[in-house]
Order: sequence, then structure tokens, then C-alpha cells
Amino acid sequence: MSAISTEDYRKTAQEAIEDHVLKNALANLQQRFGRGAAEAYLNLPEGPGLRLKARDVRMEAIGNLDAVLVEFAENVRKNGGHVFFARDAGEAVSYCLEVARRRNIKSVVKGKSMLTEEVNLNPSLQEAGIEVTETDLGEYIVQLAGERPSHILAPAIHKTRGDIGKLFAEKIGIPYTDDPTALTIAARKALREKFLSADMGISGCNLACAETGHITTLSNEGNIRMCATMPRVHLAFMGMERIAQRLRDHDMLLRLLTRGASAQEMPTYVSYVGGPAYPWQADGPEEFHVVIVDNGRTKILADEDFREMLCCLRCSACLNMCPVYAQIGGHAYGHTYCGPVGAVVTPLMKGINRAKDLCTGETLCGACRDACPVNIDIPRMLLGLRAKLAQGDPRWGVRRADRKEKVFYSLWSRLVGNRPLYDAFLRAAAAGQRLLPRQAGMITRLPGSMHGWTKSRNIRPVAGQSFNRQWRRTEAKRKG
Ligand code: SF4
Repeated sequence: MSAISTEDYRKTAQEAIEDHVLKNALANLQQRFGRGAAEAYLNLPEGPGLRLKARDVRMEAIGNLDAVLVEFAENVRKNGGHVFFARDAGEAVSYCLEVARRRNIKSVVKGKSMLTEEVNLNPSLQEAGIEVTETDLGEYIVQLAGERPSHILAPAIHKTRGDIGKLFAEKIGIPYTDDPTALTIAARKALREKFLSADMGISGCNLACAETGHITTLSNEGNIRMCATMPRVHLAFMGMERIAQRLRDHDMLLRLLTRGASAQEMPTYVSYVGGPAYPWQADGPEEFHVVIVDNGRTKILADEDFREMLCCLRCSACLNMCPVYAQIGGHAYGHTYCGPVGAVVTPLMKGINRAKDLCTGETLCGACRDACPVNIDIPRMLLGLRAKLAQGDPRWGVRRADRKEKVFYSLWSRLVGNRPLYDAFLRAAAAGQRLLPRQAGMITRLPGSMHGWTKSRNIRPVAGQSFNRQWRRTEAKRKG
């Protein structure tokens, strides 16, 4: 399910653009989620400037990550929990399997966690004979469908309620209905059985705090809290960057995270989980584990140009405002993380050449940066990745993507930097384009390797004179 297919991005994106069901499912995404987040930032008592402060706090924690993580681990252990540092996906999954084997775990309930998707946890648990049930409603739907999530926050956003009705009829045997309430009740009934019988709960971690040694989980369904408290073992997967140094920083980030994610001041369920249950407590796990996962993050941390990406809170605000995501949805990106965040993170984690189309497929419009609760400058990093592809970079093992392109753009740069030459080029292009096919004044097909520009749209003809020349003529006429 987590097979990586970023190499197919051009094809999968094209298929997604032609998928009218997907188009309907994603319609008004910006209105539904994005605009609310922008208003929520404006309504912050501290003003929208809080986002800049939050970014400083994130960069500070990331700059001291070694010390911050040691402090966190010490405090979790003081609270009776266990901490494991996993260098890669394999180590993270092996640790989880080892805990499951030792505690004779037969069934697992899971809260939504993109990190467990990243390390491809579920197939390994299932191969070990453990039943795994996703308990977030959207995740439950995509699990039944045998798919990956297509949005960080709303994993089944690509599905219509009719799709879900058919899926539930086939997989959990209820009569077909497309009524959302009836479908939710059916899922709740099926999941309740799983919660009651599960041996282990697995969750992600929205944020953690070094000062207190707790992790925080957020949900609107209450499912993560049940995963964390009902089974006898709770194991949380945490990306090594998802940490705040001090409690006051943590709480500020939490307020921004929930605004960016769902325009809420606070989600319905906020759980601070700091260790196993005390003997006198009625519920809570006997064992609590945190698996802190690197899996390529240290390499990002070591590069000052990309370190900023580790500030990401995985809130999905940038997806909601991205014009590219709005057309193609999440599956086209071919890996766990999609939208603008995926266009930077996936190349850095999986290879810049391998995932090159992701970073060249974004528009650089800047909507992601404006939407981000911690002001991450994604367009700057997309340009940084493109520069590596143009010039190569042995540190990241990047080969030049296309020498022809480099030659073309160096010639182009010389042309536009030389005024008389550029004017001559425009005159020649204006004369030459008369031979090209047109419709309603627009060129319908460019020749040779430029034909991609007119594959799905017509383009305006080149003006015979540059803007500068036209301006000078207009000014000269005006003056007299
Ligand atoms: S880059 Fe910013 S907006 Fe996008 S998921 Fe990360 S924190 Fe949210």
C-alpha cells in the first residue's frame, strides 16, 4: 500500500486531472478548509504575527534537537515509559514487532499516523499475524478500500459518499446507503468491537514536549484517546522533529496547528500522554512506548537550505490552498506526503532525481507559505530543489536532470539580458508564428519539443514588440 511511485507523477497527475469524480470530491477545498484557517489566524488574540514567533520557536528546537530529544526521553522514562530511537523505517517497525511479540499481541487499533504510513507499518504487523484496524473514520475507509490516504487530515477526501456506501456494503455487510450519518454509525459499531478486544493501541504524535516528557494527540472523533487508553500497551510513533522544548512553546504551536489544520481553536479531543497508567488509575495502558524516527530527517537537518522543512507540523493547511493539489488530489504524488509539503519532503527523503517531477510540478504561487501556521517558505525550497536538478549536487547524490534544458535556459538568459537581441528575437518570433495554426486568435499548436505547451491549452501569440518598447512609444506619444 505504501509502494513509492513518485516516478509516475506525470502520468498519475494527468489521470487525476481527467478524473471527474475526483474533481467533484476536491471541489471548493479552499473554501471548505483553507479560508477558515486564514480567518482563524487573523482572529488570534496575539495577532497573525504569532506565526512568525512560532516559526522561531520551531527553528530553535530543531537547532537544539539532540539536547531536546535527550531531555524528552529522560522525562518519558522518569514517567515510566520507554523510548526507542529508530534510525530508519526498518528499525522502527522491528521495535514495534518486538514489543508485540513480547506482549503476545494479537490485535492492534490505530489512530491516524502519517509516520506509520511512511514506515509502512501495517503490512509488517499483518505478516506477523496481527490484526490491524485503523480507527479514524477516513483511515478506516481507505483501509477497507486497500488504498493509501490522499490527504493528511482527511484521508478519504477523494471518495464520494456513494463510493463509501458501496464499500461498506461489500466489506462490512450493511445494506447500501449513502447517508453519512448511517455510514458513520455503521463504522462506529464495527470499530467499537475492535477497541474492546484490542491488545495494543498505536498512535502518531501531533506534538511532544521535552520539558514534560509527554506526547500530544489530537482528534475530533475520540478514537486516538481510545487507542491510547483502552489496550494494555500503547506505542506512539513520533518523527524526531515533532517536538517543542518548553510547555509554553508546545501550547502556542498547538493553537496554531489546530487553526491551520481545521480552523478550530481546539479540536474535540486533546490528549497529553505522559506514560503508562499509575496503579490506582482505572484505565490507561500497562506499557507506554515512544518510537522516535529519523528515517532521513537527520540529513535534512544537516542542510541549512532545507532544515526549515523540519518545522512542519503536518497540519495540511498548505494542501488545502494548493492549486495543484486541488486538481490532482493526494494519490498522484505517489508517496505518503502529498501537496506542497510532499513536493519538498519526498524528494529529500526518497531521492531528488527519483521524485524530481514533484518539485517541478508545483506552481510557486506562494499560497502554501501564506497558509502555513509556521510560515515555512516552501517555494524557496522548491526552487532550491530545482537548482540542484539543474546543476547537480554530489552531497545529495543529484545528477543533472537534463543537460539540454540547462543549455536552453543559459541561452535564454543571455537572450533576455541583451535588449537589442531580445527585440530582434521578438520581431522574428512574431513573423514566424504567422505560420502556426490558430483558433480565435490563439495559437493551438507549437512545433517540435515545444508542443507540450499547447497540449492542453491554446496560447497567446508573441507580441511583436517588447513591453519596454511599447511603453517607450506610448510615453513618447503622450509627451508629444
Ligand atoms: S508545510 Fe506548513 S502548512 Fe504545510 S503541512 Fe507543514 S506546517 Fe502545515
